Amino acid sequence: MLLWLVPLLAVLGFAGWLVYRAVRFRPPAGFRQAGPRPVTVPEMPIAVKLGELLQIATVAYRDPALEDAAAFANFQERLQALYPHVAAQCARVLVGDKGIIYRWAGHSDEAPAVLMSHYDVVPAQAEGWTKPPFSGEIAEGYVWGRGALDTKCTLAAAMEAADGLIAQGFVPVNDIYLCFSGDEEIMGPTAEAMLSALQEWGVQPAFVLDEGGGVVPDALPGLTVPCALIGTGEKGLAELTVTATANPGHAAMPPRHTAVGRLAWAVRRLERWPWPLRYTPPVRQLMEDAGRHARLPWRPVYANLGPLRPLISLWAGLRGGEINALLRTTCAFTSLAGSPAVNVLPDRASATASVRILPGENSKSVRRRAERLLKRKDLEIAIRAISEPSPPSLTGDGAWQVLTEAVAQVWPEALIAPYLFPACTDSRHYARVSQHVYRFSALAWTRQERALMHGHDERISLKALARMQAFYEILISKL
Ligand SMILES: [Zn+2]
Repeated sequence: MLLWLVPLLAVLGFAGWLVYRAVRFRPPAGFRQAGPRPVTVPEMPIAVKLGELLQIATVAYRDPALEDAAAFANFQERLQALYPHVAAQCARVLVGDKGIIYRWAGHSDEAPAVLMSHYDVVPAQAEGWTKPPFSGEIAEGYVWGRGALDTKCTLAAAMEAADGLIAQGFVPVNDIYLCFSGDEEIMGPTAEAMLSALQEWGVQPAFVLDEGGGVVPDALPGLTVPCALIGTGEKGLAELTVTATANPGHAAMPPRHTAVGRLAWAVRRLERWPWPLRYTPPVRQLMEDAGRHARLPWRPVYANLGPLRPLISLWAGLRGGEINALLRTTCAFTSLAGSPAVNVLPDRASATASVRILPGENSKSVRRRAERLLKRKDLEIAIRAISEPSPPSLTGDGAWQVLTEAVAQVWPEALIAPYLFPACTDSRHYARVSQHVYRFSALAWTRQERALMHGHDERISLKALARMQAFYEILISKL
Protein backbone atom coordinates (compact mmCIF):
# COMPACT_ATOMS: atom_id res chain seq x y z
CA MET A 1 0.00 0.00 0.00
CA LEU A 2 2.79 2.38 0.91
CA LEU A 3 4.91 1.26 -2.03
CA TRP A 4 5.12 4.83 -3.32
CA LEU A 5 7.17 5.61 -0.21
CA VAL A 6 10.06 3.47 -1.46
CA PRO A 7 11.24 5.74 -4.31
CA LEU A 8 10.66 8.83 -2.16
CA LEU A 9 12.80 7.41 0.64
CA ALA A 10 15.44 6.41 -1.90
CA VAL A 11 15.60 9.96 -3.28
CA LEU A 12 15.70 11.47 0.20
CA GLY A 13 18.36 9.00 1.26
CA PHE A 14 20.49 9.82 -1.78
CA ALA A 15 20.11 13.58 -1.18
CA GLY A 16 21.00 13.10 2.47
CA TRP A 17 24.11 11.16 1.52
CA LEU A 18 25.21 13.99 -0.83
CA VAL A 19 24.65 16.57 1.93
CA TYR A 20 26.56 14.41 4.42
CA ARG A 21 29.51 14.21 2.03
CA ALA A 22 29.37 17.97 1.43
CA VAL A 23 29.31 18.78 5.15
CA ARG A 24 32.41 16.64 5.73
CA PHE A 25 34.21 18.18 2.74
CA ARG A 26 35.96 21.08 4.45
CA PRO A 27 39.42 22.64 4.53
CA PRO A 28 41.84 20.59 6.67
CA ALA A 29 41.63 21.23 10.42
CA GLY A 30 43.78 24.14 11.49
CA PHE A 31 43.91 25.65 7.99
CA ARG A 32 44.54 29.37 8.08
CA GLN A 33 45.11 31.32 4.94
CA ALA A 34 48.48 33.09 5.17
CA GLY A 35 48.95 36.65 3.99
CA PRO A 36 51.11 37.57 1.01
CA ARG A 37 54.79 38.07 1.71
CA PRO A 38 56.78 40.97 0.24
CA VAL A 39 59.87 40.05 -1.78
CA THR A 40 63.14 41.87 -1.34
CA VAL A 41 64.47 41.37 -4.86
CA PRO A 42 65.14 44.74 -6.55
CA GLU A 43 62.85 45.25 -9.53
CA MET A 44 64.98 47.17 -11.99
CA PRO A 45 68.04 44.99 -12.76
CA ILE A 46 66.02 42.04 -14.09
CA ALA A 47 63.51 44.37 -15.78
CA VAL A 48 66.22 46.20 -17.71
CA LYS A 49 67.76 42.95 -18.94
CA LEU A 50 64.40 41.46 -19.88
CA GLY A 51 63.64 44.69 -21.76
CA GLU A 52 66.82 44.21 -23.73
CA LEU A 53 65.96 40.57 -24.53
CA LEU A 54 62.49 41.60 -25.69
CA GLN A 55 64.07 43.99 -28.22
CA ILE A 56 65.56 41.05 -30.07
CA ALA A 57 62.79 39.89 -32.42
CA THR A 58 63.24 36.12 -32.20
CA VAL A 59 60.01 35.41 -34.06
CA ALA A 60 59.44 31.77 -34.96
CA TYR A 61 57.90 30.86 -38.33
CA ARG A 62 57.26 27.46 -39.81
CA ASP A 63 58.79 28.75 -43.04
CA PRO A 64 62.50 29.19 -42.25
CA ALA A 65 62.78 31.79 -45.06
CA LEU A 66 60.69 34.16 -42.94
CA GLU A 67 62.87 33.81 -39.88
CA ASP A 68 65.63 36.20 -38.93
CA ALA A 69 68.46 33.78 -38.11
CA ALA A 70 70.66 36.70 -37.02
CA ALA A 71 68.17 37.59 -34.27
CA PHE A 72 68.47 34.11 -32.77
CA ALA A 73 72.28 34.22 -32.91
CA ASN A 74 72.23 37.73 -31.46
CA PHE A 75 70.01 36.55 -28.58
CA GLN A 76 72.42 33.74 -27.76
CA GLU A 77 75.34 36.16 -27.60
CA ARG A 78 73.45 38.78 -25.58
CA LEU A 79 72.77 36.17 -22.91
CA GLN A 80 76.51 35.64 -22.54
CA ALA A 81 77.04 39.38 -22.09
CA LEU A 82 74.07 40.06 -19.81
CA TYR A 83 74.81 37.20 -17.43
CA PRO A 84 78.62 37.16 -17.18
CA HIS A 85 78.82 34.93 -14.10
CA VAL A 86 76.73 32.24 -15.76
CA ALA A 87 78.86 32.61 -18.90
CA ALA A 88 82.06 32.22 -16.87
CA GLN A 89 80.91 29.40 -14.58
CA CYS A 90 78.66 27.25 -16.76
CA ALA A 91 79.71 25.29 -19.83
CA ARG A 92 77.54 26.38 -22.74
CA VAL A 93 76.55 23.96 -25.49
CA LEU A 94 74.57 25.11 -28.50
CA VAL A 95 72.32 22.41 -29.95
CA GLY A 96 71.50 23.02 -33.60
CA ASP A 97 70.87 26.66 -34.49
CA LYS A 98 68.55 27.41 -31.62
CA GLY A 99 69.15 25.25 -28.56
CA ILE A 100 71.10 26.67 -25.65
CA ILE A 101 72.22 24.50 -22.73
CA TYR A 102 74.14 25.88 -19.75
CA ARG A 103 75.54 23.19 -17.49
CA TRP A 104 75.94 24.48 -13.96
CA ALA A 105 77.97 21.92 -12.05
CA GLY A 106 76.77 21.17 -8.54
CA HIS A 107 78.31 19.13 -5.74
CA SER A 108 76.73 15.99 -7.21
CA ASP A 109 75.59 14.69 -10.58
CA GLU A 110 73.24 12.18 -8.91
CA ALA A 111 69.93 14.05 -9.28
CA PRO A 112 70.32 16.66 -12.02
CA ALA A 113 67.63 19.30 -12.54
CA VAL A 114 66.55 20.84 -15.84
CA LEU A 115 65.13 24.37 -15.88
CA MET A 116 63.53 24.95 -19.26
CA SER A 117 62.30 27.95 -21.19
CA HIS A 118 62.05 29.11 -24.78
CA TYR A 119 63.10 32.38 -26.33
CA ASP A 120 61.23 32.26 -29.63
CA VAL A 121 58.02 34.26 -29.78
CA VAL A 122 54.94 34.41 -31.98
CA PRO A 123 54.71 37.24 -34.55
CA ALA A 124 53.41 40.67 -33.53
CA GLN A 125 52.30 43.60 -35.71
CA ALA A 126 52.65 47.08 -34.20
CA GLU A 127 48.99 47.78 -34.94
CA GLY A 128 46.86 47.35 -31.84
CA TRP A 129 49.78 47.72 -29.42
CA THR A 130 50.16 50.66 -27.03
CA LYS A 131 53.97 50.31 -27.17
CA PRO A 132 55.78 48.82 -30.15
CA PRO A 133 55.92 45.03 -29.61
CA PHE A 134 59.71 44.83 -29.79
CA SER A 135 60.48 47.98 -27.82
CA GLY A 136 61.12 46.23 -24.49
CA GLU A 137 60.02 49.50 -22.92
CA ILE A 138 59.70 49.85 -19.16
CA ALA A 139 56.70 52.05 -18.42
CA GLU A 140 53.74 52.23 -16.05
CA GLY A 141 55.17 49.49 -13.85
CA TYR A 142 55.53 46.96 -16.68
CA VAL A 143 58.07 45.61 -19.12
CA TRP A 144 56.32 45.64 -22.51
CA GLY A 145 56.89 43.41 -25.47
CA ARG A 146 56.17 40.17 -27.29
CA GLY A 147 57.58 37.38 -25.16
CA ALA A 148 57.27 39.26 -21.85
CA LEU A 149 54.92 36.52 -20.58
CA ASP A 150 55.58 33.72 -23.08
CA THR A 151 58.25 33.18 -21.98
CA LYS A 152 61.40 35.27 -21.99
CA CYS A 153 60.34 36.17 -18.44
CA THR A 154 61.08 32.70 -17.05
CA LEU A 155 64.32 32.58 -19.01
CA ALA A 156 65.43 35.97 -17.62
CA ALA A 157 64.36 35.03 -14.07
CA ALA A 158 66.27 31.73 -14.13
CA MET A 159 69.37 33.44 -15.58
CA GLU A 160 69.21 36.40 -13.18
CA ALA A 161 68.83 34.06 -10.19
CA ALA A 162 71.70 31.84 -11.35
CA ASP A 163 73.95 34.81 -12.13
CA GLY A 164 73.38 36.36 -8.70
CA LEU A 165 73.90 33.10 -6.85
CA ILE A 166 77.12 32.33 -8.75
CA ALA A 167 78.39 35.83 -7.95
CA GLN A 168 77.87 35.03 -4.26
CA GLY A 169 79.90 31.82 -4.61
CA PHE A 170 76.90 29.52 -4.38
CA VAL A 171 77.24 25.96 -5.69
CA PRO A 172 74.03 23.94 -6.14
CA VAL A 173 73.66 20.55 -4.49
CA ASN A 174 72.99 18.85 -7.83
CA ASP A 175 73.92 19.74 -11.39
CA ILE A 176 71.50 22.18 -12.98
CA TYR A 177 70.93 22.39 -16.72
CA LEU A 178 69.42 25.60 -18.06
CA CYS A 179 67.82 24.54 -21.34
CA PHE A 180 66.39 27.15 -23.69
CA SER A 181 64.87 26.25 -27.03
CA GLY A 182 64.15 28.61 -29.91
CA ASP A 183 61.32 26.90 -31.77
CA GLU A 184 58.70 25.98 -29.17
CA GLU A 185 55.99 28.08 -30.77
CA ILE A 186 56.26 26.11 -34.01
CA MET A 187 56.74 22.78 -32.20
CA GLY A 188 60.19 22.55 -33.72
CA PRO A 189 62.80 19.84 -33.12
CA THR A 190 65.12 21.69 -30.74
CA ALA A 191 63.71 20.62 -27.35
CA GLU A 192 63.89 16.98 -28.34
CA ALA A 193 67.42 17.43 -29.70
CA MET A 194 68.47 19.01 -26.40
CA LEU A 195 67.00 16.07 -24.48
CA SER A 196 68.93 13.70 -26.76
CA ALA A 197 72.11 15.65 -26.01
CA LEU A 198 71.47 15.33 -22.26
CA GLN A 199 70.90 11.61 -22.66
CA GLU A 200 74.11 11.23 -24.63
CA TRP A 201 75.92 12.79 -21.67
CA GLY A 202 74.20 10.27 -19.35
CA VAL A 203 72.01 12.90 -17.66
CA GLN A 204 68.84 11.41 -16.13
CA PRO A 205 66.75 14.43 -15.07
CA ALA A 206 65.39 14.10 -11.53
CA PHE A 207 63.49 17.37 -11.77
CA VAL A 208 62.22 19.29 -14.81
CA LEU A 209 60.49 22.66 -14.74
CA ASP A 210 59.00 24.43 -17.76
CA GLU A 211 56.44 27.16 -18.39
CA GLY A 212 52.84 26.32 -17.60
CA GLY A 213 50.47 27.12 -14.76
CA GLY A 214 50.66 30.05 -12.38
CA VAL A 215 49.04 31.52 -9.30
CA VAL A 216 45.47 32.30 -10.27
CA PRO A 217 42.50 33.77 -8.39
CA ASP A 218 39.94 31.69 -10.29
CA ALA A 219 41.33 28.16 -10.61
CA LEU A 220 37.86 26.63 -10.26
CA PRO A 221 34.36 28.08 -10.25
CA GLY A 222 33.46 29.16 -6.71
CA LEU A 223 37.05 29.29 -5.48
CA THR A 224 37.95 32.47 -3.61
CA VAL A 225 41.46 31.50 -2.45
CA PRO A 226 44.35 32.01 -4.91
CA CYS A 227 45.69 28.74 -6.16
CA ALA A 228 49.16 27.89 -7.50
CA LEU A 229 48.47 25.49 -10.35
CA ILE A 230 51.36 23.23 -11.24
CA GLY A 231 50.91 21.35 -14.49
CA THR A 232 51.81 17.73 -13.77
CA GLY A 233 50.57 16.48 -17.12
CA GLU A 234 49.63 18.01 -20.42
CA LYS A 235 47.06 17.30 -23.06
CA GLY A 236 47.99 15.86 -26.42
CA LEU A 237 47.41 17.53 -29.75
CA ALA A 238 46.12 16.13 -33.02
CA GLU A 239 44.53 17.47 -36.18
CA LEU A 240 41.33 15.72 -37.18
CA THR A 241 40.21 16.20 -40.78
CA VAL A 242 36.73 15.25 -41.95
CA THR A 243 36.22 15.19 -45.72
CA ALA A 244 32.84 14.87 -47.44
CA THR A 245 32.91 13.58 -51.02
CA ALA A 246 30.32 14.13 -53.77
CA ASN A 247 29.89 14.32 -57.53
CA PRO A 248 31.24 17.56 -58.98
CA GLY A 249 29.00 19.60 -61.24
CA HIS A 250 27.34 22.94 -61.93
CA ALA A 251 25.97 24.81 -58.94
CA ALA A 252 22.84 25.66 -60.95
CA MET A 253 21.62 22.05 -60.67
CA PRO A 254 22.60 20.96 -57.18
CA PRO A 255 21.64 17.79 -55.34
CA ARG A 256 19.71 18.17 -52.10
CA HIS A 257 22.94 18.24 -50.07
CA THR A 258 26.30 19.27 -51.47
CA ALA A 259 29.58 18.04 -50.01
CA VAL A 260 29.64 21.23 -47.95
CA GLY A 261 26.17 20.54 -46.57
CA ARG A 262 27.12 17.03 -45.53
CA LEU A 263 30.34 18.33 -44.01
CA ALA A 264 28.31 20.83 -41.98
CA TRP A 265 26.27 17.90 -40.60
CA ALA A 266 29.48 16.15 -39.56
CA VAL A 267 30.96 19.23 -37.86
CA ARG A 268 27.72 19.91 -36.03
CA ARG A 269 27.47 16.29 -34.85
CA LEU A 270 30.98 16.30 -33.38
CA GLU A 271 30.18 19.55 -31.59
CA ARG A 272 26.88 18.22 -30.25
CA TRP A 273 28.45 15.09 -28.85
CA PRO A 274 31.46 16.23 -26.85
CA TRP A 275 33.99 13.67 -25.68
CA PRO A 276 33.02 11.98 -22.39
CA LEU A 277 34.02 13.71 -19.17
CA ARG A 278 36.87 12.07 -17.29
CA TYR A 279 38.57 13.10 -14.07
CA THR A 280 42.28 12.63 -14.77
CA PRO A 281 44.41 12.22 -11.61
CA PRO A 282 45.70 15.86 -11.56
CA VAL A 283 42.25 17.35 -12.10
CA ARG A 284 40.65 15.08 -9.51
CA GLN A 285 43.35 16.09 -7.03
CA LEU A 286 42.85 19.78 -7.88
CA MET A 287 39.10 19.52 -7.32
CA GLU A 288 39.48 17.54 -4.12
CA ASP A 289 42.20 19.77 -2.62
CA ALA A 290 41.05 23.19 -3.78
CA GLY A 291 37.32 22.38 -3.93
CA ARG A 292 37.24 22.18 -0.12
CA HIS A 293 37.85 25.93 -0.06
CA ALA A 294 35.11 26.80 -2.55
CA ARG A 295 32.08 28.82 -1.50
CA LEU A 296 28.49 27.62 -1.72
CA PRO A 297 26.95 26.26 -3.83
CA TRP A 298 30.18 24.94 -5.32
CA ARG A 299 31.64 23.04 -2.38
CA PRO A 300 28.91 20.34 -2.43
CA VAL A 301 29.61 19.90 -6.14
CA TYR A 302 33.32 19.21 -5.59
CA ALA A 303 32.42 16.96 -2.66
CA ASN A 304 30.28 14.81 -4.95
CA LEU A 305 32.26 14.59 -8.18
CA GLY A 306 31.28 10.95 -8.74
CA PRO A 307 27.52 11.09 -8.17
CA LEU A 308 27.16 14.46 -9.93
CA ARG A 309 29.30 13.51 -12.90
CA PRO A 310 26.47 13.51 -15.48
CA LEU A 311 25.38 17.00 -14.40
CA ILE A 312 28.96 18.31 -14.33
CA SER A 313 29.53 16.83 -17.77
CA LEU A 314 26.46 18.56 -19.17
CA TRP A 315 27.25 21.88 -17.51
CA ALA A 316 30.91 21.91 -18.60
CA GLY A 317 30.01 20.88 -22.14
CA LEU A 318 27.49 23.71 -22.48
CA ARG A 319 29.84 26.23 -20.92
CA GLY A 320 33.04 25.30 -22.77
CA GLY A 321 36.25 27.22 -22.00
CA GLU A 322 38.91 26.46 -19.41
CA ILE A 323 36.93 24.22 -17.07
CA ASN A 324 35.60 22.08 -19.91
CA ALA A 325 39.14 21.75 -21.30
CA LEU A 326 40.29 20.30 -17.96
CA LEU A 327 37.63 17.64 -18.01
CA ARG A 328 37.50 16.22 -21.50
CA THR A 329 39.17 15.89 -24.87
CA THR A 330 38.09 18.93 -26.88
CA CYS A 331 37.64 19.25 -30.62
CA ALA A 332 37.67 22.75 -32.15
CA PHE A 333 37.03 23.03 -35.89
CA THR A 334 39.13 25.88 -37.19
CA SER A 335 39.85 25.32 -40.87
CA LEU A 336 37.65 24.73 -43.93
CA ALA A 337 38.21 23.94 -47.60
CA GLY A 338 35.66 23.53 -50.39
CA SER A 339 35.19 24.52 -53.98
CA PRO A 340 37.68 26.96 -55.54
CA ALA A 341 34.78 28.73 -57.30
CA VAL A 342 31.35 29.66 -56.01
CA ASN A 343 29.53 28.23 -59.04
CA VAL A 344 31.26 24.81 -58.96
CA LEU A 345 29.98 21.95 -56.82
CA PRO A 346 33.03 20.59 -54.99
CA ASP A 347 33.90 16.90 -55.20
CA ARG A 348 35.48 17.25 -51.76
CA ALA A 349 34.90 19.56 -48.83
CA SER A 350 36.92 19.26 -45.67
CA ALA A 351 37.07 20.67 -42.17
CA THR A 352 40.00 20.33 -39.80
CA ALA A 353 39.79 20.49 -36.03
CA SER A 354 42.44 21.02 -33.40
CA VAL A 355 41.89 18.18 -30.94
CA ARG A 356 43.32 18.44 -27.42
CA ILE A 357 43.52 14.96 -25.96
CA LEU A 358 43.21 13.99 -22.29
CA PRO A 359 45.87 11.71 -20.81
CA GLY A 360 44.52 8.17 -20.92
CA GLU A 361 43.30 8.65 -24.49
CA ASN A 362 45.33 9.03 -27.68
CA SER A 363 45.03 10.03 -31.32
CA LYS A 364 43.88 6.52 -32.28
CA SER A 365 41.02 6.51 -29.78
CA VAL A 366 40.04 10.01 -30.98
CA ARG A 367 39.86 8.74 -34.53
CA ARG A 368 37.84 5.70 -33.53
CA ARG A 369 35.27 7.83 -31.73
CA ALA A 370 34.97 10.25 -34.66
CA GLU A 371 34.43 7.27 -36.98
CA ARG A 372 31.70 5.90 -34.71
CA LEU A 373 29.88 9.23 -34.65
CA LEU A 374 30.23 9.86 -38.38
CA LYS A 375 29.44 6.46 -39.81
CA ARG A 376 28.63 7.42 -43.40
CA LYS A 377 30.10 6.21 -46.65
CA ASP A 378 30.58 9.70 -48.08
CA LEU A 379 32.72 10.88 -45.17
CA GLU A 380 36.45 10.27 -44.80
CA ILE A 381 38.23 10.75 -41.51
CA ALA A 382 41.95 11.33 -41.11
CA ILE A 383 44.00 12.20 -38.07
CA ARG A 384 47.48 13.67 -37.76
CA ALA A 385 48.97 13.11 -34.33
CA ILE A 386 51.24 15.97 -33.36
CA SER A 387 51.84 15.12 -29.74
CA GLU A 388 50.29 12.36 -27.67
CA PRO A 389 49.21 13.34 -24.11
CA SER A 390 51.89 13.35 -21.39
CA PRO A 391 51.22 11.04 -18.44
CA PRO A 392 50.92 12.91 -15.13
CA SER A 393 54.09 13.34 -13.06
CA LEU A 394 54.35 12.28 -9.42
CA THR A 395 53.06 14.56 -6.67
CA GLY A 396 53.92 12.59 -3.56
CA ASP A 397 57.69 12.56 -3.38
CA GLY A 398 60.78 14.71 -2.92
CA ALA A 399 60.79 16.57 -6.24
CA TRP A 400 57.19 17.72 -5.76
CA GLN A 401 58.02 18.73 -2.20
CA VAL A 402 61.00 20.84 -3.28
CA LEU A 403 58.87 22.64 -5.85
CA THR A 404 55.89 23.22 -3.58
CA GLU A 405 58.10 24.47 -0.75
CA ALA A 406 59.58 27.08 -3.08
CA VAL A 407 56.11 28.07 -4.28
CA ALA A 408 54.84 28.33 -0.69
CA GLN A 409 57.73 30.59 0.29
CA VAL A 410 56.96 33.07 -2.47
CA TRP A 411 53.14 32.79 -2.47
CA PRO A 412 52.22 31.76 1.11
CA GLU A 413 48.66 32.97 0.48
CA ALA A 414 48.07 30.38 -2.27
CA LEU A 415 46.83 26.82 -2.15
CA ILE A 416 49.03 24.54 -4.23
CA ALA A 417 47.47 21.96 -6.50
CA PRO A 418 48.39 19.90 -9.54
CA TYR A 419 46.49 20.43 -12.76
CA LEU A 420 46.43 19.44 -16.36
CA PHE A 421 48.12 21.92 -18.69
CA PRO A 422 45.74 22.30 -21.65
CA ALA A 423 48.34 23.31 -24.27
CA CYS A 424 51.65 21.82 -25.45
CA THR A 425 55.02 22.76 -24.01
CA ASP A 426 58.56 21.66 -24.86
CA SER A 427 58.58 19.66 -21.62
CA ARG A 428 56.32 17.00 -23.17
CA HIS A 429 59.45 15.26 -24.48
CA TYR A 430 60.77 14.79 -20.95
CA ALA A 431 57.83 12.69 -19.76
CA ARG A 432 59.48 9.61 -21.23
CA VAL A 433 62.65 10.05 -19.18
CA SER A 434 61.37 11.53 -15.92
CA GLN A 435 58.36 11.22 -13.62
CA HIS A 436 59.08 14.70 -12.27
CA VAL A 437 58.16 17.07 -15.08
CA TYR A 438 56.32 20.16 -13.87
CA ARG A 439 54.84 23.12 -15.71
CA PHE A 440 54.70 26.32 -13.69
CA SER A 441 55.36 29.86 -14.89
CA ALA A 442 56.07 31.29 -11.38
CA LEU A 443 53.70 34.17 -11.93
CA ALA A 444 50.47 35.38 -10.32
CA TRP A 445 48.12 36.36 -13.09
CA THR A 446 44.46 36.97 -13.74
CA ARG A 447 42.43 35.68 -16.65
CA GLN A 448 42.87 39.08 -18.40
CA GLU A 449 46.64 38.94 -17.96
CA ARG A 450 46.77 35.36 -19.26
CA ALA A 451 44.94 36.55 -22.35
CA LEU A 452 47.84 38.93 -23.16
CA MET A 453 49.97 35.95 -24.18
CA HIS A 454 50.03 35.85 -27.98
CA GLY A 455 47.78 38.97 -27.87
CA HIS A 456 48.27 42.73 -28.02
CA ASP A 457 50.15 44.65 -25.32
CA GLU A 458 51.85 41.57 -23.84
CA ARG A 459 53.62 42.82 -20.71
CA ILE A 460 54.74 41.72 -17.28
CA SER A 461 54.62 43.83 -14.13
CA LEU A 462 57.91 44.68 -12.45
CA LYS A 463 56.56 43.26 -9.19
CA ALA A 464 55.64 39.94 -10.80
CA LEU A 465 59.06 39.75 -12.44
CA ALA A 466 60.92 40.35 -9.17
CA ARG A 467 58.77 37.69 -7.51
CA MET A 468 59.61 35.28 -10.32
CA GLN A 469 63.32 35.88 -9.73
CA ALA A 470 62.81 35.28 -5.99
CA PHE A 471 61.10 32.00 -6.79
CA TYR A 472 64.01 30.81 -8.96
CA GLU A 473 66.56 31.82 -6.29
CA ILE A 474 64.71 29.80 -3.66
CA LEU A 475 64.11 26.85 -5.96
CA ILE A 476 67.72 26.67 -7.13
CA SER A 477 68.94 26.76 -3.53
CA LYS A 478 66.87 23.61 -2.89
CA LEU A 479 67.73 21.58 -6.01
ZN1 LIG B 1 55.50 29.39 -24.41
